[in-house]
Amino acid sequence: MPAKTIKPGRSDSKTVQQRRQRVASILPILKRAYPQAKCSLNYSNPLELLVATILSAQCTDERVNQVTRELFRKYRTAADYARVPQQQLEKDIQSTGFYRNKAKAIRAMAQALVQKHDGQVPDTMEQLVELPGVGRKTANVVLGNAFGKNVGIVVDTHVTRLANRLGLTRHKADASKIEQDLMQVVPQDQWTLWSHLLIHHGRAICRARKPRCTQCPILEHCPSGKKFIQDGTAE
Ligand code: SF4
Repeated sequence: MPAKTIKPGRSDSKTVQQRRQRVASILPILKRAYPQAKCSLNYSNPLELLVATILSAQCTDERVNQVTRELFRKYRTAADYARVPQQQLEKDIQSTGFYRNKAKAIRAMAQALVQKHDGQVPDTMEQLVELPGVGRKTANVVLGNAFGKNVGIVVDTHVTRLANRLGLTRHKADASKIEQDLMQVVPQDQWTLWSHLLIHHGRAICRARKPRCTQCPILEHCPSGKKFIQDGTAE
């Protein structure tokens, strides 16, 4: 039997309106709290950001920035990464962890850039996610930050946690579903900045353990904050 299409009912659209309103209230407060919010990976062109984002999996941005300082001096073009032997690149990026897979991914991605895109990083979601080792999250980082295009919303561990605590999604951990929920309620021209703001707030105040709800500037708009303060979850 064909699956039934579920149309959003009245209550769903009301919920979406409420979530949009909540985002509209939160956004200016977070912008004031984190006026410098931006991508914390260092890069000077789309290729560097693509490489840095691949390296940032399971690694801190600080460590990635330490490694790329020398890496970006050594490798300047996609062709440079495409022809470096696997073992050499592994050595260059070792301290970022999972270096075998990361070196493999960077070399394969660079070879595809050379073969299919004249060595240039493409600026569409479709072309980016076709590159080996590049998923939607990496593509969103590159599109939003290196190309200034709001095509989607980066959902990392901080965005996942905050979207849940702020009641902006019903999906606990599925990044693509959380992204869809956020895209419904965050204005498109704010998508890239939205992720940076949540990541900054997640690091500074809304930490995974002991969130600082009593010091949080968006407490009055957060459905979890009062509960966390009452039950002792908050610091
Ligand atoms: S009130 Fe608490 S849970 Fe809500 S956003 Fe602020 S720190 Fe996070």
